[in-house]
Amino acid sequence: MCGISGIFNVENAETLVAETLFAIQHRGQESCGVAVRDCRGNISYHKGMGLVKNVLTPENLFNHQGNIAIGHVRYPTAGRSDKVNSQPHVAELPEGPHIAVCSNGDIINYYELRTWLENEHNFTFRSDNDGELIGRLVAYYLVHEKMTIENAITETQSQLKGAFSTLLIYRDQMFAFRDPHGYRPFVLGHLDYEEGGELMSDGVVFASESCSFGIVGATFIRELEPGEIIRLEKGKPLKTVSVSAQNRQHCVFELIYFSRPDGFTFNELVYDVRKKIGARLFEYDKENLGVDKDTVVMAVPDSSNFVALGYAQASPANFDMGLLRNHYVGRTFTKPDQKQRDEGVRHKFNPLPDFFTGKKVVLVDDSIVRGTTLRKIVRMVRSAEAKEIHVRIGSPKVIGSCYYGIDTPTRKELIASKKSVDEICSFIEADSLKYMEVEDFDTILKSSGNFCFACFNLKYQHCPDDYHQKTNVPCERC
Ligand code: AMP
Repeated sequence: MCGISGIFNVENAETLVAETLFAIQHRGQESCGVAVRDCRGNISYHKGMGLVKNVLTPENLFNHQGNIAIGHVRYPTAGRSDKVNSQPHVAELPEGPHIAVCSNGDIINYYELRTWLENEHNFTFRSDNDGELIGRLVAYYLVHEKMTIENAITETQSQLKGAFSTLLIYRDQMFAFRDPHGYRPFVLGHLDYEEGGELMSDGVVFASESCSFGIVGATFIRELEPGEIIRLEKGKPLKTVSVSAQNRQHCVFELIYFSRPDGFTFNELVYDVRKKIGARLFEYDKENLGVDKDTVVMAVPDSSNFVALGYAQASPANFDMGLLRNHYVGRTFTKPDQKQRDEGVRHKFNPLPDFFTGKKVVLVDDSIVRGTTLRKIVRMVRSAEAKEIHVRIGSPKVIGSCYYGIDTPTRKELIASKKSVDEICSFIEADSLKYMEVEDFDTILKSSGNFCFACFNLKYQHCPDDYHQKTNVPCERC
């Protein structure tokens, strides 16, 4: 998973991009970067491993100033974890280093296209990263096939399979384009800004999530359409070059877990969807769990806060907070071995003293992937002397890996791919366990038919294994 943002036609666009990236830091903490076109027409960049506040500092951006900039925060789903895979990428053209690209998603025919460029056209790749592939494909069509930039991007878009929300700088133009299914979020905003004491009104902002806009004073305009290519050129109106939409496949996990709750994603208010999920989970319990005013409903902070709140508000119980989260502990999910993941959870959460004694607790989390987090937390709450622990999950069972930009372990590591709900309940040592049902998203989302639920129902639009696509039988990898 990653996040992108771009700003067009605003002084010090690089600084504003860094600020917008800070607002979507949750989408990637491994590395980040900014590419900028300066007033002399050069494209330069700064990127590095680490967080936005440490890498994209005013000192580091001092030599990279301009009014067209794009940026990226990375959370690796494919490719090595090192600086060479950080984005944006700059593809050098014979006339100069004139294309900068960053992208959020996963290209499932990455190796096929890369091998074609390497073997047939002598391209050399520096990274294992899909952003670089996109830049090199555009460069290929532009230079070798002598296409216009608009046609080169249109052709590139049609060659790629999978998920991509992409920003590209070429000369004094910026392009924003998205895959035809619209897997990852991508929004467009407008920025009024002051220059020389005057209010200017032609700045354009793109970002993965609308929560990036407030920090720079931008206003949300709309989402990009699936398959849309937008072109910005100084002095000209924003132009939609084309829209090659196919059936929508928005990632429902963005609403369940990934996106920030203060955003507007896929035409939904994220916090509102989470509260509705919580209310739905309470419906399952209404008749049979005996939830009353003495029951404590609490979240595994912070990603499930709104789900727990929705549950509590629908029920006679109170929302409370019995676990404290240490915000200085990084991602435990991506640690390479189970021992480190277990330790990470212990460092991350701590129960409040005397809070749980004798209480019936409804413990809400957004998802169970390997089962690491909840097993540790249930044990923690049990040793704090809770009387009963009922775990409720804001997503259906995760039974398949994601190929469209979310970092999920292989299928055999997913606890729900091999265990029943009762077996998972015993594994996490809870008194009861319930998940959201996939069908119930029909009543929660405005248009559930527009969403991808493949990690919950294995209905992949594209899968890297052709076998699955041809036979419609889940393949080895999923
Ligand atoms: P696990 O401990 O393996 O069962 O993972 C579930 C926990 O990790 C939940 O509390 C989620 O908030 C979080 N989580 C779920 N999916 C992801 C992901 N793709 N990346 C990072 N964290 C995740």
